Amino acid sequence: MIKIVGIVLKVTGEVLLKACEDEKAREEFMKMADTVSKEKRSQIMSRIRGKWTKPEMFAHNYLKSAKVRHKMHPKEIPGRPDVLFKDNNIALFIDGCFWHKCPTHYRLPKSNVSFWRKKIRDNVARDRRVTRELKKQGDYRPVRVWECQLTKDFLRGLAETEAET
Ligand SMILES: [Zn+2]
Repeated sequence: MIKIVGIVLKVTGEVLLKACEDEKAREEFMKMADTVSKEKRSQIMSRIRGKWTKPEMFAHNYLKSAKVRHKMHPKEIPGRPDVLFKDNNIALFIDGCFWHKCPTHYRLPKSNVSFWRKKIRDNVARDRRVTRELKKQGDYRPVRVWECQLTKDFLRGLAETEAET
């Protein structure tokens, strides 16, 4: 899979790199989990974090084309949502099926089992904490969607949701 994308990549460049990065990021992370020094690891992680995932690109491109006012990854909002809908104050989190443990697609990797179990459990705990915090604050309504359920219809629905007053 990665290999095929790699070949096409030479033709279309950056766009496809972003398109396959979810899987790439995961592969990279797995490789380094127990072989790479701590400093090197955080270096790699910050590089991964700086890129947009495929579902994030999808959301941004669609919202832009539909002229929906939004902001990607606003730093000032707790949990740094993936998309902030500016007109109705919805904070959308697009949860990757692997990293956030989608009930349909998550599979525990076969190696480094205890590492992954903890890593994913921590992610899920953080997701819940962030959702709770936003609800408590009340400025933005948190919405979470699995990457496998992200569609244009879903995004349009969110955009058309009335602001809570
Ligand atoms: Zn899924």
